[in-house]
Amino acid sequence: MSAPLLKVENVSKRFGGFTALDSVHVSINPGERFGLIGPNGSGKTTLINCISGSLRNDTGSIVFGGEEIGKLPAYVRLRRGIARSFQIPRPFRSMTVLENLLIPIDFGGHGQSSRQAMDEVGVILEKMGLASKADVMSSQLSQVELRKMELARAMAARPKLLISDEAMAGLSSSEIDEVLALLFKLNGEGITIIMIEHIMHAVMRFSQRLVCLEAGRIICEGTPQEVVGNARVQEAYLGA
Ligand code: ADP
Ligand code: MG
Repeated sequence: MSAPLLKVENVSKRFGGFTALDSVHVSINPGERFGLIGPNGSGKTTLINCISGSLRNDTGSIVFGGEEIGKLPAYVRLRRGIARSFQIPRPFRSMTVLENLLIPIDFGGHGQSSRQAMDEVGVILEKMGLASKADVMSSQLSQVELRKMELARAMAARPKLLISDEAMAGLSSSEIDEVLALLFKLNGEGITIIMIEHIMHAVMRFSQRLVCLEAGRIICEGTPQEVVGNARVQEAYLGA
């Protein structure tokens, strides 16, 4: 078996006296589709923040591509290949879709010329089904278009690992299918994906492996069927 792409070991995170993550272990293989579920406030976004570098874990280690990254700033982790979408999209509202993508391309530090950057944005927009929206102000986008742009911005960093934080919240079922198809496509191109999602049929269809967090602890890990069938998960999350 190949070495894991990401190995989170014994990661804890406290906010003052509150423990948001309590000794979390997660190992994700290259190319995997990995699902993260759990009730609101269980620590899903905090875990992603620790992995992507917007928060520092208090204990434990985070190894990506064989190297410890837990002390690296977020932009360095991005350049190493960890990109995430935000639960609450943060577009630059007064910029076009194209401009919104040029910023992370630049920030990604791959040293392209502006011509190459424009070409790369074009390829990403095409792939994400946003080509016709390139010159539209992001404030004019629909909810699903905003979600796609959020994922497109993450893609601009040429990630090895893409973390999608509730990219489907508030979407209709056909829009959920669109975003799901996009994530399958990106995974098909070799990108490892962590999906955080409350929409169970989507996360079950997508994930090869699923982890359920409750109050900062992993309470179950396995195939989607195993996790959903687990009594503790049902009690904590699925409301059985
Ligand atoms: P989830 O994404 O699973 O809904 P979060 O990771 O956002 O949960 O939050 C986990 C817990 O940590 C919540 O109780 C939340 O209020 C708390 N929390 C998250 N971020 C902070 C922060 N920056 N400061 C204080 N508490 C936080
Ligand atoms: Mg969250």
